[in-house]
Amino acid sequence: MFLEPHFKSQRSGWIEVICGSMFSGKTEELIRRLRRARIANQEVKIFKPQVDVRYSEENIVSHNANQIESIPLTHAKQILDHIDEVEVVGIDEAQFFDLELPNVCEKLALKGIRVILAGLDMDYKGQPFGPMPHLLSVAEYITKVHAICQHCGNLATHSYRKTVESSKVLLGEKETYEARCRTCYQMGNILELRPVKKEKPTTKGKEPTLF
Ligand SMILES: [Zn+2]
Repeated sequence: MFLEPHFKSQRSGWIEVICGSMFSGKTEELIRRLRRARIANQEVKIFKPQVDVRYSEENIVSHNANQIESIPLTHAKQILDHIDEVEVVGIDEAQFFDLELPNVCEKLALKGIRVILAGLDMDYKGQPFGPMPHLLSVAEYITKVHAICQHCGNLATHSYRKTVESSKVLLGEKETYEARCRTCYQMGNILELRPVKKEKPTTKGKEPTLF
């Protein structure tokens, strides 16, 4: 559990990064922290890269449809145009912003703003993603959240992209990506030949829950 730093008189701000693979609950954790800041009557603004339009143009939406309103931007520098009176800045899908984002976040922190970012630490090839390595270096607080490996049930750190024909329209993240542990990620598409889990019969009126 992340405990928010509690320095009312502190003049300088700070940077928090929430990172992990897909389906690890990054956005839920971001939303949880931003909601708590609002409960504390702090002025909060939330930004996301324009590229992330999966579900909603103006909201950040987690996989469990928890949502909060946000401002879509094409360049990290544009964040600086929206920060009058702001005490807390939330940034979702930080990995899709340009490499200027760490500098922007450091400027915000120096102005006394608490900056909370959520993003994928690695891409589907297992490589550091966009501005995330730099952000992890300059952040005061880092939280790495884990998904559950869809094949073995261990903690998952990798986002595995299933083979998709280029002509196929992407159906959505659940159809395109899987959360996998290091070992199952390395095994690649060998695992795709095995059934992930057996479907349990649905009892009438009661939907089976996944977690
Ligand atoms: Zn596994």
